[in-house]
Amino acid sequence: MKKSIFAGKVAEVIDWAVVVLVPASGLLHPDPILYYKTFLILFAVIIIPLLSFGAIVYWFSERNGQRIQGERKKKPPLGREIFGTSRAMFLVGAMAAWPTALALAGYPTGLAWTLEEMGLNWWQAVIQMYLGIVAIDAWTYWKHRFLHTRMFFPFHAHHHSFRDPTPFAGFAVGPVETVLTF
Ligand SMILES: [Zn+2]
Repeated sequence: MKKSIFAGKVAEVIDWAVVVLVPASGLLHPDPILYYKTFLILFAVIIIPLLSFGAIVYWFSERNGQRIQGERKKKPPLGREIFGTSRAMFLVGAMAAWPTALALAGYPTGLAWTLEEMGLNWWQAVIQMYLGIVAIDAWTYWKHRFLHTRMFFPFHAHHHSFRDPTPFAGFAVGPVETVLTF
């Protein structure tokens, strides 16, 4: 069996380089201060409700109803789950801060509030939305298949390391996978 060239520590090093380089890219932003402010706000706006809701659902589901998986055999790795989800959302905040801070600074971006700004009429917007759904669904499918190849599975292993997950593991994907996904 041929081993992936990303086996062992290689994927880990690349993953952590992504965690450093994506937020560091904000230094190239026309307004780095605005970028990092926007980044912190977006991260907070994503992670606080996400973990709060996860806590409510976890608390409720452990006390009520029946689990498909049956009784838990061991304690879930909550710390690792929260860490994985937080690391992914940290990168989502860092990526989302780019267009958001550009828009806040008055630069033209793809963020539009009216059809006029989009340069579309209503039926073109409807077609664009449906084509977008098809394109994103196809991307999600092929990306997942690609990550299940022997070569690239090391970037996806974190996600599949939670065998009996809680809601906290909902977005626990590795950094490279986070960039490909969001
Ligand atoms: Zn998978």
